Amino acid sequence: MRTQNPVFIPGPTNMPDRLRHAMDTQTVDHRAPDFARRFLPLLEDLKTVFGTQLGEVLLFPATGTGGWETAVTNTLSPGDEVLAARHGMFSQRWIDLCRRQGLYVHAVEGQWGEGVPVDEYARILAADSDHRIKAVLACHNETATGVTSDIAAVRAALDKADHPALLFVDGVSSIASMDFRMDEWGVDVAVTGSQKGFMLGAGLAILAFSPRAIAACRDARCPRAYFDVEAMREANRAGSFPYTPPVGLINGLAESVSLLLDEGLPRVFSRHHRIAEGVRRAVDAWGLSLCARRPALYSDTVTAIRVPRGFDSNALVHHAYEHYGVSFGAGLGEVAGKVFRIGHLGDMTDVMALSGLATAEMAMVNLGYPVELGSGVAAAQRYYSATRNRWKREVA
Ligand SMILES: *Cc1c(COP(=O)(O)O)cnc(C)c1O
Repeated sequence: MRTQNPVFIPGPTNMPDRLRHAMDTQTVDHRAPDFARRFLPLLEDLKTVFGTQLGEVLLFPATGTGGWETAVTNTLSPGDEVLAARHGMFSQRWIDLCRRQGLYVHAVEGQWGEGVPVDEYARILAADSDHRIKAVLACHNETATGVTSDIAAVRAALDKADHPALLFVDGVSSIASMDFRMDEWGVDVAVTGSQKGFMLGAGLAILAFSPRAIAACRDARCPRAYFDVEAMREANRAGSFPYTPPVGLINGLAESVSLLLDEGLPRVFSRHHRIAEGVRRAVDAWGLSLCARRPALYSDTVTAIRVPRGFDSNALVHHAYEHYGVSFGAGLGEVAGKVFRIGHLGDMTDVMALSGLATAEMAMVNLGYPVELGSGVAAAQRYYSATRNRWKREVA
């Protein structure tokens, strides 16, 4: 018997049984050769997921936030200037983290519901003729607002200004679910975590560093100890870790990557797109609108939905959990109480998505929203049934 309904939060995501089993392991001697035999190919395979051949993948026992700290402290020095935008909770947290590290942040105030303000970035970079800005930060998928930004356009802004700043991308809720092209987009550090697209529990920060980012580690003076990239790379070269690795999670990640590569990344991405599109059709049928302002910004991993005036989205999220045992994402920061979020990334099927939509409808109707039972579900059903693929059962 299942004791839990699927979750519809944008992380941690639903965990396939195959991954849970892979993590259930007896004590492993991480200095024995079989650890290296499993671990080193994993680092190679992860490059495919990041879309990099030039970069190097690094794993730290941490979450995405620890991944950001790793990116910043290993490549920059106190007082360095960085360019960032605040257009959601996650981009805001990255700005805070940089300031606490003693960096000077040019924080562009963006709209919650808009993407990275590329034109503003282009203007600031072009004006920075002394190249005081050492790094540019971009959140690929702002999980708080359900907005995906155009990273290729950020790269183009850097190139157009002939600016040498490093490009750091938060891909925590996009990598492994949406197309990510580290080399093509000229990303210098890409950051993600184990609990979103990789369908595991929290506990691993997963990063890729470009050769330029690795070179920057030599002169960077921000203090780092636990998150020291050079110490990690040196240990990794010998197939080991500078400290005790979380072997269960690493086994889970190896299984996750093989699940993703077996499905095929293009198929993983198109599955996310289809599921997201069905959810968007449902939202439209409810007569509600998205937090994301334009279709070009719509996220394929999380949908943030504005509730009608006079309603509290947090009460809706609470009601769905209390009455139906289903978790949706609450509104965060500036959109707290105003939006609720449906996470649809990772281990997700049409059928699971429909159950989430049906639950959201029941909760809204219970709370007096002007929404008709079945309206959103029917819109999603029409879309899913018209675009269906042959069902392929995953062998556990
Ligand atoms: C979840 C998330 C994070 C934070 O990651 P933690 O693993 O909770 O530290 C950062 N950025 C984005 C875009 C996220 O979705």
